[in-house]
Amino acid sequence: MWIVFSPSLLGRTIVAQMELRIPVFNRATVSSMSRCLFTALFCCAITASSVFQALGAPPKKTEVIIVGAGLSGLAAAYELKKARVPYHILEIAPRIGGRVRTVRYHRPGEPETYADSGMEEYWQSNPAVQVIKELKLKHSSDVAVSSIVLEKRLYPLPKDVTPGGFKKTIFSPPELEALNGFGEKVGPWIKELKPGAPIRPELMKLKEISFAEFIGQQKLPSKVSEWIRVSVECEIGTGWDRISALDGLAEYHIFLGDGEDSYRIVGGNDKFTDALARAIGRGNISLNSRVTRIASADGNGVEVQFLETESNENGVIRGKYVISTVPLFRLFEVQFVPALSPKKREAISTMAWGSYFKAHVFLPAKSARFWTANDTSILPILSDSELGVIYDGNPQQDGPTKILSLLVHGDPAESDNMVPLDQTRKQIGDGLDKLWPGIKEEIEGIEFYRYHPRAIAAWPPGRSRFDDLSNEIRRPENNVYLAGDFTESSHSDGAFISAHRVVQGILQSLEATKSKSSAR
Ligand SMILES: Cc1cc2nc3c(=O)[nH]c(=O)nc-3n(C[C@H](O)[C@H](O)[C@H](O)COP(=O)(O)OP(=O)(O)OC[C@H]3O[C@@H](n4cnc5c(N)ncnc54)[C@H](O)[C@@H]3O)c2cc1C
Repeated sequence: MWIVFSPSLLGRTIVAQMELRIPVFNRATVSSMSRCLFTALFCCAITASSVFQALGAPPKKTEVIIVGAGLSGLAAAYELKKARVPYHILEIAPRIGGRVRTVRYHRPGEPETYADSGMEEYWQSNPAVQVIKELKLKHSSDVAVSSIVLEKRLYPLPKDVTPGGFKKTIFSPPELEALNGFGEKVGPWIKELKPGAPIRPELMKLKEISFAEFIGQQKLPSKVSEWIRVSVECEIGTGWDRISALDGLAEYHIFLGDGEDSYRIVGGNDKFTDALARAIGRGNISLNSRVTRIASADGNGVEVQFLETESNENGVIRGKYVISTVPLFRLFEVQFVPALSPKKREAISTMAWGSYFKAHVFLPAKSARFWTANDTSILPILSDSELGVIYDGNPQQDGPTKILSLLVHGDPAESDNMVPLDQTRKQIGDGLDKLWPGIKEEIEGIEFYRYHPRAIAAWPPGRSRFDDLSNEIRRPENNVYLAGDFTESSHSDGAFISAHRVVQGILQSLEATKSKSSAR
């Protein structure tokens, strides 16, 4: 049985695009009446902290108009602010953050608890980490390796172990030698891979074959190949046979050697987007503003039309530059005048996409015994199953409820995004019970978050984030700059790298205009 709350019922406390379906469970201990009551109370109390934000009234004119208040748009504004260039952000949703979403749950009689229903963690090389430190946000960091299910066996990450030490518990000496040898071979190639920088033709050839085929050619022991597959597939949200070898290698950079540490924001990732919004000035962001048309003429500035989605009022802002951070697959919802170049359109239409689906599984605190060994949590676990990556959703909280945050990826995510959620609920309960017999009985509820039709970018064999078509996406036209993670990588590092690229481009253009007019 389901209770479904419509957005109008919950008013502005609902997060845009978030499907809100609450399962009602038939546990013998709880009568269906009291469960319904609990569910209704619980549901009504769900909020996201970023929702209640002052709306900035859009100005008639500014220097840079930014479309989208996800990480890319906020990061671009953050850099523009440092450079003292005026900007304004138009965001279609009633909240900032885009794919950064933290849900705060208020269960009756319990302290607030939260978990991220969007992105989870930041790898060390992600420029976001520097910004997190600049903004003095409380964060935690972890070693790069995770517990992993390989060839149907769970290898738990032991307490206080180094990444190298952990690998010794998984692999035999010859297997470890093969894995290290692979890292030594591809490491220098991976270091050469920089979007926009020229790539050697021999390396570029690797875009023609799949990552699976490339790994097959390396003749690695099967357990080593499996470790690479399981580690990379959750990063790209699709099968390793569906991305080009060049892009598989680009993703593998976080696992080279001892791997990169991962960072999480204490209190949820929306603390980061909130801090960015504060730094750039909330008055510089207009929510509920859907950009419908971007018109530009070289040298004559830009004009951005938007629809205020609450009032249905149409508005216009004029400026010198536009930064669009609209995920590329949604870019065709915006009219461009003149139209985007045919090469840009080809670049977008020949990309592939990774799928994600999120589930928050509610359990009593005592259930933590299932994932605790020697007083230490073995989460996260790369499950290589329909459970995806199993994170501790609320690691810094000691309340009566634990939340497992499942980041489901690839085909299981694609299916979860489509099938009735009771089917998914059963599958997740059964999957967890297979891993930890008895846990299913303790599940108190599950919340689901869909990412449909696309979650992250991927590049199939024949394409790459380093090829000419991708460079074309990154080439500004008529003062219109395309940013967003989809223009650079499959992750939030792409959001920050793209923001930096477009802001640098705009600063150079402003500088060139200044020198031209002073030479006259
Ligand atoms: C479930 C999930 C888990 C993830 N986990 C990780 C992780 O652990 N680590 C990691 O590094 N990355 C992760 N990612 C990827 C990460 O979330 C993204 O790379 C990052 O959030 C992208 O930011 P962005 O600003 O480029 O795009 P978005 O966050 O999508 O922002 C784009 C914004 O543009 C707005 N918009 C769209 N169209 C219009 C329009 N016409 N007018 C006005 N506004 C518009 C959207 O509403 C949105 O707010 C994950 C992604 C998902 C979906």
